[in-house]
Amino acid sequence: MATDYQKPLPRPINPELSRPFWEAAKRGELVMPRCKTCDHLFFYPRSECPRCLSGDLEWVRVSGRGRLHSFTIIHQPANAAFRSDVPYVYAIVQLAEGPRMVSNLVQCDLEALRVDMPLEAVYDAVTPEWTLVKFKPA
Ligand SMILES: [Zn+2]
Repeated sequence: MATDYQKPLPRPINPELSRPFWEAAKRGELVMPRCKTCDHLFFYPRSECPRCLSGDLEWVRVSGRGRLHSFTIIHQPANAAFRSDVPYVYAIVQLAEGPRMVSNLVQCDLEALRVDMPLEAVYDAVTPEWTLVKFKPA
C-alpha cells in the first residue's frame, strides 16, 4: 500500500522525541526508550523517565514479541478514512520486555483472537517516509 495511502496520517507533535522509533520501524526493528538511571523501559516516548523523572535516556532494541493484553474489533470507525479497513483490530500489546503499546493486529483470524495469545511485530511501510509497527499472531 506504499504510495496509495490515502488516510489522514497523524505526524509526531515533537518529531525529535520519537525519531529513533520511526527510524527503527523503517529498518524493521522495534525500539523503546530506556532510563539509564533506573533501568526502566517505557513506551510511549517521553523526554523524562515516567518512573524517576530522569532525562538520561537511551534507545534499546526489543524483541517485537509480546502477548495480546486487550483488543476490540472495530466495525464502525470513528474516522471515515478507515471505513474500508473494517473490521480491523485495535489492540493493546503486552511486550515481552514490559511496556505495553497500542497497535493493530493484522494477518489474523478475527474469530481466533484470544487475550494472552502470542504476537510478533510486523512493519507496514504505509508511505516511503513512514512505517507503522503492527502485530500478527506468532
Ligand atoms: Zn528512571
